[in-house]
Amino acid sequence: MTEPGERLRTARCGCGDLSVVTRGEPLDIYACACVTCRARTGSAFSYAGLFRESAITIAGPFRLWRHQAESGRALENAFCPSCGAGVFFRTAAWPDLVGVAAGCFAEQDFPKPRRLYWAARRPGWLCLPADTPLIDTQ
Ligand SMILES: [Zn+2]
Ligand SMILES: [Zn+2]
Repeated sequence: MTEPGERLRTARCGCGDLSVVTRGEPLDIYACACVTCRARTGSAFSYAGLFRESAITIAGPFRLWRHQAESGRALENAFCPSCGAGVFFRTAAWPDLVGVAAGCFAEQDFPKPRRLYWAARRPGWLCLPADTPLIDTQ
């Protein structure tokens, strides 16, 4: 159900086969520079918004990669079988929530991360806004 005025956004993989429509604003937004997130994304850090399962609609094929994050938590990453982009994930730590990769949204106004996890693992050049808490674990 979409409430009047509720914001819709669409996250898409690189080839467009896999998409996630989100309704409303994310409950939380974070970046993470842990080894797993860097390897998983191929980038300096991951950046994701958390939505309730009931606030997202997944369309298209995906495959799951189940593994343990550096925090020790079990993670399930969903990626596009064609282009390999990781579009969404679930973790046992936050049941009922789905993480959606912020970089997959075409909209440029996706909110900034509220904190950076595993901050000590980030590359030395990476600066975030001064009011962003830097956390050295997760
Ligand atoms: Zn794709
Ligand atoms: Zn991480």
